[in-house]
Amino acid sequence: MKKIRVNLKEENIYFIYLGYSLKDVGRLLTEKKYGRKVLILSDTNVFSIYGEVIKDSLTKEEKKVIDVVIRPGERAKTLHNAYNILKNCAENEMGRDDTILTLGGGVISDLGGFVASIYMRGINFVVVPTTLLAYVDASIGGKTGVNLPFGKNLVGSFYQPSFVYMDYNTLSTLPKREVKQGIAEIIKYGIIKSKKIFDIFRDKPVDEMKKYLPFLIEESIKIKKDVVEKDEKEKKGLREILNFGHTLGHAIEISHLSKFSHGESISLGMVGETYISWKLGFCREDVYYAVKEVLQKHRLPFNFSSVVIDKIFNYLRYDKKVRQGNLRFVLVEDIGKVKTGIVVKIEDVSKILKEMVKDEKY
Ligand code: ADP
Ligand code: ZN
Repeated sequence: MKKIRVNLKEENIYFIYLGYSLKDVGRLLTEKKYGRKVLILSDTNVFSIYGEVIKDSLTKEEKKVIDVVIRPGERAKTLHNAYNILKNCAENEMGRDDTILTLGGGVISDLGGFVASIYMRGINFVVVPTTLLAYVDASIGGKTGVNLPFGKNLVGSFYQPSFVYMDYNTLSTLPKREVKQGIAEIIKYGIIKSKKIFDIFRDKPVDEMKKYLPFLIEESIKIKKDVVEKDEKEKKGLREILNFGHTLGHAIEISHLSKFSHGESISLGMVGETYISWKLGFCREDVYYAVKEVLQKHRLPFNFSSVVIDKIFNYLRYDKKVRQGNLRFVLVEDIGKVKTGIVVKIEDVSKILKEMVKDEKY
């Protein structure tokens, strides 16, 4: 069991509890003197497995539990669902010192965190992540929000949790495809900041990864936490480092209409962006091959054979973030070392990637 302290400004300090047991979460709420009411937000998959344990843990501490269980998936991140949760809070006369506890992946904590941030201008928000991706990404950083028909996360807020509570056992029921999404994001942390993480993926057998997960999760959280502490509201551009693999990754994810999961998309994004790094002289050729081999070893997509390059660029040309035909990249100098804010002309990116696809054929 471990505690990581996250230090934000204005006495906004909270803890991430790692390797604890779900059945003890209620006691922590009592210790922290939170109010009597707890609204659990979860999805049907997760709640059917872990709902009872959490509820028991809370009722043992004399809490009044309200549960809101929604359908799984990104489509649940709507204002309509946010409204329903708000309504539940109000109907149950929840007050300032009461709590919203999210039990699930990033979808659940984004939605629940958003509601926690606006109900009575902010109530206690406890995050219990259950996907590997949420462990290392969504549950740290304080970004909350819902989607609009016009795009993802268009409505939201920065709202830090009261605490984050992780029970590694929840990963045992996570479908393989979801585990891989988290692995892709952890490999990203290795490439941007930690050769130690990368070397584990490179050197240890795939079927032994489970043994290393607690270390990998902890290291990833520390990397993200350090960045967030320095740039809480994403105003100084320091968070950009976390976008490695995501410039191309997002474009691949959206232009291919979710044919690839987020993790798969950023795996491809990392391959493409490392290739660009090599071709623009930021890193050596062997860095590119090392990245590619690690992704392949962990059964993540590592070549562009099922990607339509033109689709990516049709999408990018109309993307508002692409200013005057330029794209911004985080490029690799070596494993564990990257450079942010590199501007490359979209035409050059297209040329380089087409060259990469040709290379892949040999
Ligand atoms: P993320 O945004 O973190 O990738 P989601 O909230 O979209 O995660 O969840 C991904 C899928 O995995 C959903 O279908 C969810 O119900 C399911 N899921 C989440 N955690 C678990 C778990 N521990 N065991 C089984 N299924 C889970
Ligand atoms: Zn990501």
